[in-house]
Amino acid sequence: MVVTASPDAAGHWGDGTRCVHSGQADRVAGGPFLAGPVIAAPYHLAGPGEPPAQDFYGRGGNPTWRALEDAIGELDGGHCVLFPSGMAAISTLLRLLLRAGDTLVLPSDGYFVARQFVAADLAALGLTVREVPTAGPWPEGVFDGARLVLLETPSNPGLDVCDIAALAERAHEAGALVAVDNTTATPLGQLPLSLGADISVASDTKALAGHSDVLLGHVSVADSALAEELRAARTRAGSIPGPFEAWLAHRGLGTLDLRLARQAANAAALHEALSGHPAVTGLRWPGAAEDPAHEAAARQMRRFGGVLTFELPSVAAVDAFLAESRLVVAATSFGGLHSSLDRRAQWGDPVPEGLVRLSAGCEDTADLVGDVTGALAALA
Ligand SMILES: *Cc1c(COP(=O)(O)O)cnc(C)c1O
Repeated sequence: MVVTASPDAAGHWGDGTRCVHSGQADRVAGGPFLAGPVIAAPYHLAGPGEPPAQDFYGRGGNPTWRALEDAIGELDGGHCVLFPSGMAAISTLLRLLLRAGDTLVLPSDGYFVARQFVAADLAALGLTVREVPTAGPWPEGVFDGARLVLLETPSNPGLDVCDIAALAERAHEAGALVAVDNTTATPLGQLPLSLGADISVASDTKALAGHSDVLLGHVSVADSALAEELRAARTRAGSIPGPFEAWLAHRGLGTLDLRLARQAANAAALHEALSGHPAVTGLRWPGAAEDPAHEAAARQMRRFGGVLTFELPSVAAVDAFLAESRLVVAATSFGGLHSSLDRRAQWGDPVPEGLVRLSAGCEDTADLVGDVTGALAALA
């Protein structure tokens, strides 16, 4: 093992170091490592003749957001704008960029609520929406006339993967902007901006904050002017995160590298244990060499995360599995410390009834594998 004790030639520290240190407070004697949340609506204004203070009203910005935006922006390699949820990030982005008559390209298998938002709330603009499965094929001309292409890779819940660099090149040739929903990967798993996308958008409710106690989202962009437009749109719309939520997420971010490492190790062990199991079909994890998405994932992803998808024979089998398992809880989120499982069809997601997304948590690998295989054995 090679251990480097200093930043690389480009000045980058390793993932763990950046997670621990990004956006932390300056070293001030008597001050905390991570400044606490600043909870205020108005701030004191500057007096006559004094330069205006950066903060004057909480809807426009505050030091707690900026600390976390600095941290996530550093990990994403761009300018980060924080939102109160992943959907607030996506909806503000789409409302800012799309105008009546525009064409939007969306994954047909992407996050269900994003597709619902487009159909229910943006349709009135008279958008042309082209839906393409993440795994493709991405037909010739699919980006023609498009204003925005929203990719999602790995897709939730199917865990298919698309080639961000290749699709971004084609979309840019057609004059479209490219956004990637990077929720499942997190910036430690994949860097859409360095792969050629214009925009990386994510729900930080999942692995990034990681403790199942906060909703948050963000948009990161390479173009600082677009970041300013997003900030202004956030201030106008008023869809803003709470400082305490931002602080909790920043606190959680410190262990992202450690958590993802354990989650990926657990997912790899679960994949091995579930492969060929008689009750399990359609097992997917992009980290597995035999997974249909592995080759594309290995080319663009830095690590594969802890989320697996598979199908159990029936709704009753899923219920029985959950009743039997002592470690896996039913929850419609993923990426947290606790292993959890979500049967997606219960929310109207158009997938098979028994399809589940299993999020491997940070439990000990042997405990989790033993618990899951035990619960599956009880189904037989
Ligand atoms: C959860 C999720 C969202 C929405 O995020 P919220 O924080 O729940 O609003 C968007 N995209 C993907 C891929 C998600 O998994």
